[in-house]
Amino acid sequence: MTRQTERIPLMAPSPGTTRDLVVHRFGAAGARPKAYIQGSLHADELPGGLVAHHLGGLLDKAEVTGEIVLVPAANPIGLDQRVLGHHFGRHFGGTGDNFNRGYPDLTDAVVERVEGRISPDQATNADLIRAAMTAAVADLEPTTELDTLRFTLMRLAADADIVLDLHCDQEAELYIYLGEDLWPDARDLSADLGAVSTLLALDSGGGSFDEAFSLPWWNLKQRFPDMPIPAGCLSTTVELRGSADVYDYLAAQDAAGLFRFLQRRGLVAGDPGPMPDLIAEATPLTGCDMVRAPVGGIVAYRRELGEIVAAGDVIAEIVDQTAAPDQARTPVTTRTAGRLFSRSDNRWARPGQPIAKVAGAEPLPDAGDYLLSD
Ligand SMILES: [Zn+2]
Repeated sequence: MTRQTERIPLMAPSPGTTRDLVVHRFGAAGARPKAYIQGSLHADELPGGLVAHHLGGLLDKAEVTGEIVLVPAANPIGLDQRVLGHHFGRHFGGTGDNFNRGYPDLTDAVVERVEGRISPDQATNADLIRAAMTAAVADLEPTTELDTLRFTLMRLAADADIVLDLHCDQEAELYIYLGEDLWPDARDLSADLGAVSTLLALDSGGGSFDEAFSLPWWNLKQRFPDMPIPAGCLSTTVELRGSADVYDYLAAQDAAGLFRFLQRRGLVAGDPGPMPDLIAEATPLTGCDMVRAPVGGIVAYRRELGEIVAAGDVIAEIVDQTAAPDQARTPVTTRTAGRLFSRSDNRWARPGQPIAKVAGAEPLPDAGDYLLSD
């Protein structure tokens, strides 16, 4: 099966300047199931791009029975943003917009198109909703280069059964953000990737790319409670460890995990073998303690990634290097028990800055509606 490669030009930011989104397609157009996989939407998060490179190599040699759309570099704008020798790929330099926030909620646009046509047949409803999602995205009118990028990515993903947005954290183990209603269906993804944590939320509050494709299905279920509407898109953000974990051996391992998952889901021919044991059950995103520095200073960690900690454990000490040595250290504790799976790579903390994440099983009392660390 040969890959088809397409270059989609984005709106030119200025005369004489253009950027292209490079899209690789495997399998027959319109074949089901369809997976959309993109890497490095935060353009300075490179593990996703390297995994996409390895996965493409595996798919070139495979029999793809569904349709797979692979975008290894989902953010050519951010790839090109350098300031004084540093790469800035998380926010759009023109406006400060986070490249993975502010994706439009398609729910109302889809409801408008399906109202009066939802039936007692689940498969028909799924087809109807997918067509409505596609039509709703096609109607989005970009007025900026950033919007052309956002809407072009959405067009590629709108009717997919599976959307995998490959990101990474700062210093972290491999973990996954997932819609609450997609669990336990997505156990195979977490197991095949060896995720140490799967964090569940219906709506994490930021309009992130993955939720643009999962949340409308959940919302439609609430709008039409008497009709069978499936969780029609397994859309997720995969955090491929830390930003410096860019190695062929890890990327090859992750690509092989994704390949087995695609086999399990009927997109690629061949036997994936038995599903590996899940490393950990999913936990609520509201239970993830975003451990914050109470004061500014130098972060000296006391715990390593992968450690299971108890509530009240000291994760780090913040050192005020200007203070007398016996008064220089402020301990930072976690409020929950669970696995320490993420730390900041910036060792110079400001008050309130998140410096670690601990996956706890119980929702924290003050989690609020905005669940992302940005
Ligand atoms: Zn990211």
